[in-house]
Amino acid sequence: MKKQYSAVIPRKIHDGLSEHLLRADGQEDLCFATYVPSTGSNRFTGIISEIFYPLEGERNVHGNVGFMPEYFERVVRIALARKHGVAFLHSHPFPGWQGMSQDDVVAETRMAPTCFAISGLPLLGLTIGTDGSWSARFWIKSATEKRKYERNWCGSVRVQGKDLQITFNDQLIRPSLDHEKQLRTISAWGRATQNELSQLTVGIVGLGSVGSIVAEILARIGIRNFYLIDYDSVEEKNLDRLTNVFVSDIDRAKVKAIRDAIKRSASAPDVNINTVEYSICEEEGFLAGLDCDILFSCVDRPWGRQVLNFISYAHLIPVIDGGILVRTSKDNTCMLGADWKAQTIGYDRPCLECLGQYSSTNAILEKGGYLDDPDYIKGMKDKGSLDVHENVYAFSSHLASMEVLQMLNLFIAPSGIANIGQQMHHLVTGVTDIEHKQCLSSCYFQTVIGKGDFSGVKVTGQNKIAEDCRHNRQRNKL
Ligand SMILES: [Zn+2]
Ligand SMILES: [Zn+2]
Repeated sequence: MKKQYSAVIPRKIHDGLSEHLLRADGQEDLCFATYVPSTGSNRFTGIISEIFYPLEGERNVHGNVGFMPEYFERVVRIALARKHGVAFLHSHPFPGWQGMSQDDVVAETRMAPTCFAISGLPLLGLTIGTDGSWSARFWIKSATEKRKYERNWCGSVRVQGKDLQITFNDQLIRPSLDHEKQLRTISAWGRATQNELSQLTVGIVGLGSVGSIVAEILARIGIRNFYLIDYDSVEEKNLDRLTNVFVSDIDRAKVKAIRDAIKRSASAPDVNINTVEYSICEEEGFLAGLDCDILFSCVDRPWGRQVLNFISYAHLIPVIDGGILVRTSKDNTCMLGADWKAQTIGYDRPCLECLGQYSSTNAILEKGGYLDDPDYIKGMKDKGSLDVHENVYAFSSHLASMEVLQMLNLFIAPSGIANIGQQMHHLVTGVTDIEHKQCLSSCYFQTVIGKGDFSGVKVTGQNKIAEDCRHNRQRNKL
């Protein structure tokens, strides 16, 4: 797989940049910023961390904008002190993804060696078009030629706010439609939306009852680039809830069974499915998650949720999460009710911990292996907060649909609405409540927003259950 590059701009920073760079008089303008890296298994992303506007006399706007050496030196000193990367941004008087003029190439090529020398991070060049679209490239030191810096175009630039706006580089991430198969879908939301959906990279973490249905829906609506992340194997007791998974799949990796299924269901041509036989709590699964534009959290355990919560803030990748709670009589012979929730978390939205979707105490216990120790669980006072397993296909399919709708709101923002809040559906009354909440003022995750690789914490670790599961498959050569 060819290495990919991307950039993310938090909405607040994007608003500041577009106000500065898109001038009322139509002239081009420029500025510098710093960025932090977010390194996935196959994608390197720069997260813009701070803008440094030009001071009086640091740049000339005269049709073709230029800057004084003092401006560059000022930003380089700050970047050096923080060990951040340097980003150089300018505007063009046209809409859409922008190429570079010869002057642009010369300017960025000249800055590339200094930027790399101070932090080991390549210069990130970005251009904004009149419609607010971004384009970007990293100048990376050549492995073969001395003193040469090569331009590596980003495949996308993402602006993360309550909505997710992505400008794709159509040359690197090609849109791909099937007019015959997708006739009705395209007639609903148009060709431009269909093109953008086909360019998204979506990760599904946990391919159980909800995850397998999310995968099926996404394949039908035209998503082409998938990461399926799950260490688990198919068991007989899963067959009442897994979509497109059959007796012949028992003991296979869930991600492989679902990969085969969505290859058949996909309405778009050229589907790319990466199967990752790891937990999101293991380094390999975590890094695969950082390659995605949107993640679905279909895990039912606290540590996985904690890791996904972290990714959504530190790495600015929105996470769509859901959970089902079935209430039964004490002897489990009768259902009293069932409720399920769907929510999108990340930048400018409340986190899973503050929403009460997992407890960090249980995440720590799971990380330490205690939640898989029957003796420990027997001694626990409060078992109510542990994960529960009662579930029915009809509930999961409704929840999976709600989760995909959350994604469509986030990405398409129908009638301009991207954030529909937290949805909670009650089976007994048939009512869906909506709530708009905020993180607690003491929330840790609000302190790591956009910190990427520099957040200073390690959320992954060894996961014995996942290791055993893979080992069993290897032994059985499945
Ligand atoms: Zn230019
Ligand atoms: Zn929070």
